[in-house]
Amino acid sequence: MDFSALAERLLPGEYPALETFEKRYPPRDLPKNAEVTRLAPSPTGFIHLGNLFVAIANERIAHRSGGTLYLRIEDTDLKRKVEGAVEAVIAALDYFDIRFDEGAQIGGDDTYAPWYQRQRADIYRAYAKELIRRGRAYPCFCTEEELSALRAEQTEKKEVTGYYGKYARCRNLSEEEIYAALDAGKPYVIRLRSMGDASRHFTFHDEIKGEITVTQNDQDVVILKSDGIPTYHFAHAVDDHLMRTTLVIRGEEWLASLPIHLELFDVLGFRPPKYGHNCSLMKMDGASRRKLSKRKDPELSLSFYRQEGYHPFAVKVYMLTLLNSDFEEWHAKFPDKPLEEFPFRISKMGKSGALFDLDKLNDISRTELSRLSAEEMLAFLRTWAQAFGTPEQQAYFADEEYLLKVLALCMGTAGKKRRKDFVTARQAMEEIGYFFSAYAQRDAYGVDEGTRRAILEGFLATYDPKNDAQVWFSKVKELAANLGFAAEMRDYKADPAAYKGSVSDVAQVLRVAVTGRANTPDLWTIMQILGEERTRGRILAAARA
Ligand code: GLU
Repeated sequence: MDFSALAERLLPGEYPALETFEKRYPPRDLPKNAEVTRLAPSPTGFIHLGNLFVAIANERIAHRSGGTLYLRIEDTDLKRKVEGAVEAVIAALDYFDIRFDEGAQIGGDDTYAPWYQRQRADIYRAYAKELIRRGRAYPCFCTEEELSALRAEQTEKKEVTGYYGKYARCRNLSEEEIYAALDAGKPYVIRLRSMGDASRHFTFHDEIKGEITVTQNDQDVVILKSDGIPTYHFAHAVDDHLMRTTLVIRGEEWLASLPIHLELFDVLGFRPPKYGHNCSLMKMDGASRRKLSKRKDPELSLSFYRQEGYHPFAVKVYMLTLLNSDFEEWHAKFPDKPLEEFPFRISKMGKSGALFDLDKLNDISRTELSRLSAEEMLAFLRTWAQAFGTPEQQAYFADEEYLLKVLALCMGTAGKKRRKDFVTARQAMEEIGYFFSAYAQRDAYGVDEGTRRAILEGFLATYDPKNDAQVWFSKVKELAANLGFAAEMRDYKADPAAYKGSVSDVAQVLRVAVTGRANTPDLWTIMQILGEERTRGRILAAARA
């Protein structure tokens, strides 16, 4: 068969000689051992924790090695494309401080542009044309119906499904048959003519999983779809070669396609990059582990973390904890060192599923937020509230001085042991709500109605906002004693039956009346911040309720 004539018929016109691409996209001028990694999302509008997980690993490895991280948009599948998705991907990764050196919407050195696969269509076609010319790719006219019938037949016979060997019907079409189909205007795709043998195994070194044994590819995979746009497999080989990627870290769901990719690199005459297939994020579901699911787990979506107001730094700390086994210890030892200084290594990445646990993230978040200054916390809350807060919450920022006092109280004094009241921005805004408006919910007072009134009215009778904390507390003690409560904790403990309770029960009634909560930071300070009018008003209202 005259393959050159066929190539011309299938992809007519002048395409640049392949060497020109080698020249246009030369090897990168980087230090030895520098890794070039990339993120290659499809613009489907859904960016998830798994993407971030892989992104952090790619970013750390590229930058620690003095290499480059770039962003390529894999938009070959128009059906899945969502408007604004690229911006959403960039915004989501930017929130977690993933810094790209170059790429779609990023700019940077444009030697390897364009970064949108659709804009590279001619490059893939040039390579596909060459493969047809060499007899290593061929047109396939099978229809969707024929392919599903084939699949059904293979499933029925319990054979591997796909287009391969004796099932690859169009692989052996004669020249006449091909031209007749083309003349008849039948739509076609271009397939690889695989030379592999699925009964043969080979061992492959994965940078994360180590040695793995896989079988050769024998599938005649589609490389160009009927619209002339490449499949993921083909675009991956062409792009990662021409963009001079040295290391591909991607989700382990791609491991099954690895033999296809290696055959494609081989037939194209490219040296494959190193690969690291990253374990999936799992979660406990009852007693068993399962993969995080888009349908069942809102925490899979990255937008969840922004909406809830997780501090991106805390999420990053947690991701690093999952990615490198000794990170947690390092961070505990050097909490003030920038994360970039951690010796991140691909060799320390887990081989099998990482267990994602929201409680653990919450713990980390408490710790990381407690390390912020009140000013930093205010700035973080403001950004969150502008996007996700209620109008009432947005109004908390009208008086920053007041808000800072509230935050300083809830976070504790710098240097001393800090409080860990805050987990997320959303929760923190709810937590401090009682400083701004009358609360709707109230914890239990813990005493009967009559006692409650007596405590509240008794407090108001001697309340003086000018009293310092000590005087204030001695008055509370006096009140306690007058009402049959032990003024000193040790007296109560020594003989509980002799008292109605202790001074802490009296303080609890006041606390609940003023804040609605049984657990708060120091009550005297809360009253100071709230001011006399609000404090009196709330206690009075509670006494009358
Ligand atoms: N476009 C692929 C995806 O969205 C990229 C996989 C890869 O990193 O090669 O999952």
